[in-house]
Amino acid sequence: MSPSSRRRFLQSGAALTAFGFDLRPAQAAVRELKISRTTQTHSVCPYCAVGCSVVIHTLGDKARNVKPAVVHIEGDPESPINRGTLCPKGISLKEFVNSPRRLTRPLYRAPGAKDWTPISWEEAFTKMAARIKKSRDAGFKAKDDQGRTVNRLDNIAMIGGCTDANEVNFLMSKFRFGLGILPYENQARL
Ligand code: SF4
Repeated sequence: MSPSSRRRFLQSGAALTAFGFDLRPAQAAVRELKISRTTQTHSVCPYCAVGCSVVIHTLGDKARNVKPAVVHIEGDPESPINRGTLCPKGISLKEFVNSPRRLTRPLYRAPGAKDWTPISWEEAFTKMAARIKKSRDAGFKAKDDQGRTVNRLDNIAMIGGCTDANEVNFLMSKFRFGLGILPYENQARL
């Protein structure tokens, strides 16, 4: 029997009858145990522009002395995009979430410095705001070369991420048009 026909045989009902037992209830019970006490959060895979929907299962009853743990991530069966499926990259999301190497805070590398230094979100936002203001003051054009009103910046561009939904993109557009930023690219297809 070839490997592929053996696999088909084991997956079929014939194998269940031939061996005299049915593993499906046991498999269902294992799956039930794995997620039976979790809370579910709906999210989007961050890896590519397909934007597959995922369900994140988190263990922990939100008590103050309990650290929540992501124990399982699967495709969202109610998503019209992926209908419960995930590619090999997406199915490994749990490892990404739980990785000790995952970046969870802003890093700053000062001009000329070799190393990145962790900074607070407040410091990061303050630095970004100061740089945007400085660039806008230097690059804002009220009129073009022909004297027409344009109110735009030529020295700042903006990019978005693959998990940005319509609502986020709406707010991003308001923000960039408010500043006068025209170049914008986003791989989101949500
Ligand atoms: S599961 Fe795969 S195809 Fe879907 S968004 Fe993630 S990386 Fe892209």
